[in-house]
Amino acid sequence: MAERRLQVTGRLGLHARAAANLVRVASQFQSTLTIQRLDGNAQADAKSILSILTLAASRGTDLKIVANGVDEQEALDAVVGLFERDFDENDKADGEQLPRATEELRCKGLGVSDGIVIGRVLRLQEGTPNVYRAEIAESDLERERRRFRAAVRLSRRQLEAIKDRAEKELGRGHAYIFDAHLLFLQDAKLTRDVEDYIVKEHSNAEWAAKVVGDRLLSIYTQINDEYLRERGSDIEDVIQRLLSNLTGEGPKYPNLSEDAVIVSTELLPSTIAELNLNHVKAIATDAGGWTSHMAIIARGLGLTAVVGLRNFYHRTRTGDQIVVDARAGEVILHPATETLEHYRFTVHEPRPITHEVSVEEFGPVTTRDGVQILLRANVELPTEFHAVRYFGACGVGLFRSEFLLSRPGLMGSEIEQYEAYRLLAEAAGEYGAIVRLFDVGGEFGPDLKERERNPALGLRAVRFNLHHKEIMRTQVRAILRAAAKGRLSLVIPMVADVADVRSARRVIDEETARLAAENATFAEVQVGAMIEIPSAVLTAEKIAGEVDFFELGTNDLVQYTLAVDRGNDKVAEWFRTLHPAVLYGISRTLKAAKDANIRVIVCGEMASTPAYAVLLAGLGTTDLSMIPAMIPRVRAVLSQIKTDEAREVALRCLAAGTADEVEEFVRTEFKTRWPDLFPPNALPK
Ligand code: PEP
Ligand code: MG
Repeated sequence: MAERRLQVTGRLGLHARAAANLVRVASQFQSTLTIQRLDGNAQADAKSILSILTLAASRGTDLKIVANGVDEQEALDAVVGLFERDFDENDKADGEQLPRATEELRCKGLGVSDGIVIGRVLRLQEGTPNVYRAEIAESDLERERRRFRAAVRLSRRQLEAIKDRAEKELGRGHAYIFDAHLLFLQDAKLTRDVEDYIVKEHSNAEWAAKVVGDRLLSIYTQINDEYLRERGSDIEDVIQRLLSNLTGEGPKYPNLSEDAVIVSTELLPSTIAELNLNHVKAIATDAGGWTSHMAIIARGLGLTAVVGLRNFYHRTRTGDQIVVDARAGEVILHPATETLEHYRFTVHEPRPITHEVSVEEFGPVTTRDGVQILLRANVELPTEFHAVRYFGACGVGLFRSEFLLSRPGLMGSEIEQYEAYRLLAEAAGEYGAIVRLFDVGGEFGPDLKERERNPALGLRAVRFNLHHKEIMRTQVRAILRAAAKGRLSLVIPMVADVADVRSARRVIDEETARLAAENATFAEVQVGAMIEIPSAVLTAEKIAGEVDFFELGTNDLVQYTLAVDRGNDKVAEWFRTLHPAVLYGISRTLKAAKDANIRVIVCGEMASTPAYAVLLAGLGTTDLSMIPAMIPRVRAVLSQIKTDEAREVALRCLAAGTADEVEEFVRTEFKTRWPDLFPPNALPK
């Protein structure tokens, strides 16, 4: 046995990167290496990063290193040498290389709603799960351990990818923290303890990981050194990643403060739907685009949001001060005093949609040449129902019913759904409401453990419904029964062709017949088809013969026509709503509907944008459905244009070759024709 005493001299103590270097050196030797604090009993295994960090050895701590084994002397020399060289890092660089910002840091993203908010960061890693204890039979224990190891492997692959990206985009200095995360994952103190727990307690892997993780975290919260204590959040990150890879469940929100700003890599729409809006003031995410559901629902809720911030999440800590400026599409972490002063004068939280006073204009808008255009509301959550009247909408043009499923995987019972649709019909009034059958799949995997490789092209929307007929039947029955209490219609999402429509209608007809046979109170409803994928556009005249109306989903129409993921900020510049191919698809659909004498409601985000609404009117639209808060603005614009003029512009756009040409043309033409309605910043960039 060989031993030496020494003192920690580095400014940051035995912190994560120093500990990582120590593990690397110690692991080269066969001997056991133990580090003991001389001021107490605490001791650690020098080959385990978690164990070393729990020593909480800050600068000035006296330690004893004990080596035991065949190469004990060499091992001791190597470790002592590392201490003497201050872990091969220079103090100054270390402070600079921390990924966590401590000075004002500005990040550009995409503002997807209105407002400026000053608040405190609440980090949410999607998938922070609800973990339950399950008893595992003796014969299944090995399988449970294997499941845990698979989650560790998956987490490792994810972290390696994050590290590579951080290295490329931010430099090596910022990527080191992921080395520490990777070491946590490999650390026997974590993996062995979890596996031991599984076996000893006959526990499921999730519970075991949670218990072991909580134990480690509780050690960290007692540490006196602030810097080291903060490393606890790195462990938390790793444990959360493990748990979400094991369970794939949605998040929970710990201790929401009054002014929480949710910062996340990506948020499930259902997570936003669950947020307590009395506390959450804004969201800032690494991923996302203008038409991602996360953005749509943030706008619908009047929540200030900036998305597409790339590597922002990993630079924050819960509790950091933050400014979210959705107008400028920017977030500012650790704002300087002058920045705060500036913002305190200009702070503007979007007007909550719960205001008592309401707009004065209702019903359809009439253009200057006498064309009536219906303005309906898109609604996602029951909390938005009152916004329909408040903003003067002609009922609800699109109810995205999947938002009723507050958590992926939970399908509401018939009676729960019936009640929701009944209230929807009541809120919608004389113009009624159109309920879209669940558009799950894609972002709303019914079971996140079975995430598909390519969800947007996978078992989504009508395909999901036809595969899970019991879920579809329950929803259809609830809609039909609620239709007896108010005006409701039903729309089938994402049909590819007539075959999808027929299959869905068959189920609807069967449920109608069954309700009649049961003598239940119900009413028959009109059935429409969402036209949002190119094959439906190309066969629109055939589909028109089989439904009562169309809804044009321009968000997906752009996504599928241009093959651009609507939620991926990396391809946002290819997501061009005014692409001639998209305009052609819209025009074709409108013509097919007109020939068949059925109405078309345009309900994508395009309808919510005043300049685009004018183009839609020019293409022949007379029915728009949009974010309720946008109705007054769209109404004001449409009431001052002539559709004849809009038609001239729209025809020229259809003839253009590229999206750039269309946008340029729209900019100049709109400025000349309607200078008061479209100041320069109101037009597409
Ligand atoms: C659309 O695709 O345009 C649409 C209205 O539906 P969602 O945004 O929910 O896909
Ligand atoms: Mg859609």
